[in-house]
Amino acid sequence: MNFRHNDDAKERVRQRLDMASVVGRYVGLKRRGRVMVGLCPFHKEKTPSFQVNPDMGVYYCFGCGKGGDLFNFVQEIEGVGFREALEMLADEAGVEIPRYERREQPGGGASATGHRPPDDGGRGGAATKTEMLDIHKSAAEFYYQCLKGSPAAIEYFKSRGISAETVKEFGLGYAPDGWKGLIDHLAGEGVAPRRIVECGLAVEKDGAPPYDRFRNRVIFPLCDLSGRVIAFAGRGLDAEAQPKYLNSPESALYKKSGVLYGLHKARDGVREHGYIIIVEGYMDYLTLYQAGIRNAAAASGTAFTEEHAHLIKRFSSKATLVFDGDRAGLSAAQRAALILAPFGLQVSILALPGDDDPDSFVRRDGAEAFLGLLEKARPAADFLIDKLVSESDGSPHGKSRVIDELMPYARALSDEVVRQDFLDMIAQRLRIDRRLVANRLGGSASRRPYGAAVPEPPQDSGRALTVGTLEEDFLSIIINVPALIVSARQYLSPEILTDTVAENIYSIVLEIYDRDGNLDGLIDACGGDTRLRDLVSMLGVKQVRLEHIEGELIRKISLLRRKYFKALMADVRAELRDCPESERERLLERLRYCGEQLKESDLRE
Ligand SMILES: [Zn+2]
Repeated sequence: MNFRHNDDAKERVRQRLDMASVVGRYVGLKRRGRVMVGLCPFHKEKTPSFQVNPDMGVYYCFGCGKGGDLFNFVQEIEGVGFREALEMLADEAGVEIPRYERREQPGGGASATGHRPPDDGGRGGAATKTEMLDIHKSAAEFYYQCLKGSPAAIEYFKSRGISAETVKEFGLGYAPDGWKGLIDHLAGEGVAPRRIVECGLAVEKDGAPPYDRFRNRVIFPLCDLSGRVIAFAGRGLDAEAQPKYLNSPESALYKKSGVLYGLHKARDGVREHGYIIIVEGYMDYLTLYQAGIRNAAAASGTAFTEEHAHLIKRFSSKATLVFDGDRAGLSAAQRAALILAPFGLQVSILALPGDDDPDSFVRRDGAEAFLGLLEKARPAADFLIDKLVSESDGSPHGKSRVIDELMPYARALSDEVVRQDFLDMIAQRLRIDRRLVANRLGGSASRRPYGAAVPEPPQDSGRALTVGTLEEDFLSIIINVPALIVSARQYLSPEILTDTVAENIYSIVLEIYDRDGNLDGLIDACGGDTRLRDLVSMLGVKQVRLEHIEGELIRKISLLRRKYFKALMADVRAELRDCPESERERLLERLRYCGEQLKESDLRE
């Protein structure tokens, strides 16, 4: 999935342009509360039913049901594709769209002339990739040479058990403790300071002369898959260095989430062993490499991302993630499992015992022992269930929370067989009826897990997508006042929504809000599903009364919970009617549970 492909340019255009004034050129708009109202440009009408919510950047027509964001509006009214709309709006906003980016835009009548990126040899405009690669190469050589002059840096690698051979093989180095070491060195090779700044290896602030980014740090060059240096990570040598690890900023060469340290060396090893080992740190990786374990790579201190998952998948369908056994390590493992789930990889997780990390473990116990441990790595699903169950108190509420926490993983699984198996495991471990677990998933098993794949744009069947009135009220509140999402989530998990369309929208809202802290990307997240987009736009322009809104939200949530538990109760009663005697007690217990939940929602009202 990559619904952010239109990336920065789109985002910047959105931020710079006011939706109301762009739309206002085509439609006479009048303010009515938080929205602007006018005669719909897309169908004939005498009374205005076309509305714009400028804060949220969406429009919707209650007459013909068309809706979307600024880009959809321009596409629709100008009859152009996404790319043209983006270019028109970018010109107006004064946002530059790099040419290569223009060519890569999806779905848009690629012009037959297909411009090539201009090659100005780096004299005037931005540095070319080749120039940047050259600069990184020279910088890497400089840092490597500087290591020889720094006893402290040499001692650091020695103390971590890194051999001179490994230092050489990975070009480990040292950035001297000055302000212009690298700049002066590269100047000697004819590189302008401006170029070094562009590569992120020097910093320019407030018009002052540039200075070296990496100072008094040991240096780990980061490479692309061809082994070319594209960025650096530097670890502070002073105990009080802040931050402890400093990375190159992202550049035309380097995207933080697109690099796994050492991956370029792992190709053969992965092929040989049939799986890849992912560790957390540079040192973990280097120690394994030295010990002869060559099918590993390191996430290099950044949180695990989907880009990492894509990378892994290119190399192997099996991955073992190794994490520290402490609380932070286990949480990181949980997040990583969730991110990898949609990719159909066979993922195992090894949580190391005690305070160990792979580095310390291998140095003390050796490679053989480590390989032995790897064999005990648990399948990700097992690991997740174990972790959450062990944190739970075993009460019905506790079990319920465990299921809630496991559902995002279940949804993310791309393989239906694997998913069903996972539900079985949950039911067994929690000793509850499997159907209860499946219910939480939201009934229809074929439902697309959000985030698993870009959806096929559905046929415009003419029938608009709708949700129930109660669900509509609830969703329009949180979409219009995203600050309330935090409290909404506290009382209502998406599975409680019996309306699957509403459940889907609510899940998307939570994901986007988690990711961005706002809902600007909500329309984008609807992918190519125009019916979903229309519906979400409608929720965005719907009038919401702001007074007592928090109380109103809680009331809607109570009603939604009642709806869910009433339906569940009816199911259980039906089951009770002709169940074997052995099942009876369990079903009664479940009935009591529903009753409790209903009572609780009563109290809340
Ligand atoms: Zn209309």
